[in-house]
Amino acid sequence: MKMSGDIKIERTKTPKEKPDQNNLGFGDYFTDHMFIMDYTEGKGWHDPRIVPYAPLSLEPSSMVLHYGQAIFEGLKAYKTKDGRILLFRPDKNMARANISNGRLCIPPLDVDFAVEAVKAIVREDQDWIPEAEGTSLYIRPFIIATDPYLGVRPSYTYQFIIILSPVGAYYPEGIDPVKIYVESNYVRAVKGGMGYTKTPGNYAASLIAQVEAKKKGYTQVLWLDGVNKKYIEEVGTMNVFFKINGEIVTPAVEGSILAGITRDSSIELLQSWGIPTTERQISIQELYDAHAKGQLEEAFGTGTAAVISPIGELNWDGHIITINDGKIGEFAAKIYDTMTGIQYGEIEDKFGWIVEV
Ligand SMILES: *Cc1c(COP(=O)(O)O)cnc(C)c1O
Repeated sequence: MKMSGDIKIERTKTPKEKPDQNNLGFGDYFTDHMFIMDYTEGKGWHDPRIVPYAPLSLEPSSMVLHYGQAIFEGLKAYKTKDGRILLFRPDKNMARANISNGRLCIPPLDVDFAVEAVKAIVREDQDWIPEAEGTSLYIRPFIIATDPYLGVRPSYTYQFIIILSPVGAYYPEGIDPVKIYVESNYVRAVKGGMGYTKTPGNYAASLIAQVEAKKKGYTQVLWLDGVNKKYIEEVGTMNVFFKINGEIVTPAVEGSILAGITRDSSIELLQSWGIPTTERQISIQELYDAHAKGQLEEAFGTGTAAVISPIGELNWDGHIITINDGKIGEFAAKIYDTMTGIQYGEIEDKFGWIVEV
């Protein structure tokens, strides 16, 4: 197995000025370096290196540009008050990259080496990790198909790249529940498709619903299943949880839904508090029925970017309901506080989730 010692480093001669930590936003700024590794059929993954962040040189015929053969991941590095750098379950991200790779006919990564690569690039650009409250360094590993070829088949060559972006606090003014539009026209994914992978095509497919929901005054959409438009799948690019009459429920991961690491960690946290989560089919009708009986107690999304995003309002074909008076629920708040506490090294990690860089 390759270890990080094999990663060649070419440092930039023109380091950039760092952005204002209090105005970072999400995904606007990139650090001085990036990690790249090539794949060639017959040779495998080779030439891992850290180089100055710069435009890629790609043939216009590169397969990724035409047929979307690509996958990506998203995770964060956090700086603790005493200056340590922590990652949250990076092995899970890289194992999931391989699940996506399998579906997209991309050769698998060595998970341990991919985690070493993440650590190496984060270490290289550690001065870019912001320290202001709630900020972090977003890590975007991705793989693209690079054969210069217009026939339809899996590529024989790929690049695995990791770029880094300092990002701001998701909730600079405190957590405010969002309004969500229940999407009953467009669908995101179907079983047998790519819904369980992180691949650009899923995002391309989702843009129009997001744009139309925004025009109607909603932050995101709640996706329903692609066949019956009946069962709840995800909210935007987050997994979704509900508390119905005291029971925590979340859609089961059965092929069209992404298995979020924040989802998995939320289930484990709840379990550790003696609160089981039921993973099952949940119909939108069931939610509305529960609301009518006063039993829809909480709704929230989970994902790396925001950790928790409480849902305050749903609009399903013009039927609008308000959840928990539009306020964050008890469990959403507790998961948020505990998970971010563990991520920033302020709460003891009893789960073995934290990896120090
Ligand atoms: C990334 C993603 C999530 C959340 O996954 P995390 O590992 O928790 O960040 C959920 N749904 C979709 C579609 C995603 O792409």
